[in-house]
Amino acid sequence: MADPDFDVLILGAGSGGYACALRAAQLGLSVGLVEKGNLGGTCLHVGCIPTKALLHAAEVADQARESEQFGVRATLEGIDMPGVNAYKDGVVSRLYKGLAGLIKSRGITVIEGTGRLTGPREVTVDGTAYTGRNVVLASGSYARTLPGLDVDGERVITSEHALRLENVPASVVVLGGGVIGCEFASVWRSFGAEVTIVEALPRLVAAEDEASSKALERAFRKRGIAFRTGTPFQSVKHTDTGVAVTVEGGDVIEADLLLVAVGRGPVTEGLGYDEQGVSMDRGFVLADDRCRTNLEGVYAVGDIVPGLQLAHRGFQQGVFVAEDIAGLDPRPVDEAGIPRVTYSHPEVASVGLDEAKAASTYGADGIETFTFDLGGNGKSQILKTQGFVKLVRRKDGPVIGVHLVGDRVGELIGEAQLIYNWEGYPEDVAPLVHAHPTQNEALGEAHLALAGKPFHAHS
Ligand SMILES: Cc1cc2nc3c(=O)[nH]c(=O)nc-3n(C[C@H](O)[C@H](O)[C@H](O)COP(=O)(O)OP(=O)(O)OC[C@H]3O[C@@H](n4cnc5c(N)ncnc54)[C@H](O)[C@@H]3O)c2cc1C
Repeated sequence: MADPDFDVLILGAGSGGYACALRAAQLGLSVGLVEKGNLGGTCLHVGCIPTKALLHAAEVADQARESEQFGVRATLEGIDMPGVNAYKDGVVSRLYKGLAGLIKSRGITVIEGTGRLTGPREVTVDGTAYTGRNVVLASGSYARTLPGLDVDGERVITSEHALRLENVPASVVVLGGGVIGCEFASVWRSFGAEVTIVEALPRLVAAEDEASSKALERAFRKRGIAFRTGTPFQSVKHTDTGVAVTVEGGDVIEADLLLVAVGRGPVTEGLGYDEQGVSMDRGFVLADDRCRTNLEGVYAVGDIVPGLQLAHRGFQQGVFVAEDIAGLDPRPVDEAGIPRVTYSHPEVASVGLDEAKAASTYGADGIETFTFDLGGNGKSQILKTQGFVKLVRRKDGPVIGVHLVGDRVGELIGEAQLIYNWEGYPEDVAPLVHAHPTQNEALGEAHLALAGKPFHAHS
């Protein structure tokens, strides 16, 4: 090919695309970054960041409502949604400005517009063709819906609409008890809404260890969040005031709103990927563990690649690709070692294998588990949160799964993923000193117990 315009040409500036751009530029490569919306993509504008801001506002509301149990007399007068939205939007806008500045300072060329793959190493943006020695596909994902379900953005909404509500709904049906569904259910309940989750699978957050699902279900039940698991959705009708949702079996649930949170599909249709011969499966781009597609010099990262649809996976893949292109021979991203957090009240976090997968891989006799109840952890008592740390190890071997439930336990997953990714043995972790009183101690306690030296745990 004639001299390409860029060493790396990236289609999409979400978590995967912009991470790749930042690292590639840092490594001295010339970078073109094509984006039709806002730099930062789903995570920054309509995903991780705004939802976590809502969840934090929800936590503040809960603390005000429950303040008396700490001997503090505060009254929750209500939720001022414009105020909540201003706080949320302020967080997004500060991070967006920071990101845009960083991208500029690294000398990355941002190409605004809608791109299409028009040649093996060519992306055409609104009529102008750009070429790259390497092309990275990073076009992200969209909120899926179900056949026959008409998302009108007012009564039947997706997470994107849910982030822009100007009032707290009195009642909501959440279709889908996965991460996004449970997070919104948690927010709205804290804001005072009546919430019912409808989930076809037998449990909430079904990708998590069964014990974590059960603990979340118990906590949600206590908070007054209703859920119908093992119950497929059938249809929805508009009523005078909202929606009437019919589920299998014929029950009808009425509410102001229906949030559709049934997963995310890849944004790949009409982008020229299949015309150019990129291997695809049901709309997803197939890539190997080095994020390489079947086309020479064409990579794919983030939500368009089958696997966990998480921002930090996209970041890591983006950085990996930049380093691979620069010839640094980086280590491929291990999907099982990617930490997962549901930021509901309480939180659910995990890394590695759950007990059922571990048992099916190594045999029930080939693993050991230990569960440390947060009831025995000082900081959790102070916070008045319930939950656990559950460890799964190979018999006499390393830790292969960590599962956490409780308020703020998402912050513990950093240590858990180090242990998992460094193939730590409970005996290696047991002597480490954990600051007191912290929730981290609960991780230490669980490892002590599995190493045969229970401290505050009953063995
Ligand atoms: C409500 C919600 C909450 C979430 N919370 C979390 C969380 O707490 N933690 C977490 O890790 N993950 C979370 N996620 C998932 C996370 O947002 C995604 O995994 C992540 O954004 C994927 O990054 P990506 O780069 O693959 O795609 P995206 O972030 O979707 O970026 C793709 C970009 O490509 C652009 N694009 C697409 N097509 C074109 C085109 N033809 N031309 C030009 N540009 C194009 C888009 O405009 C977009 O900016 C959440 C998602 C949602 C929806």
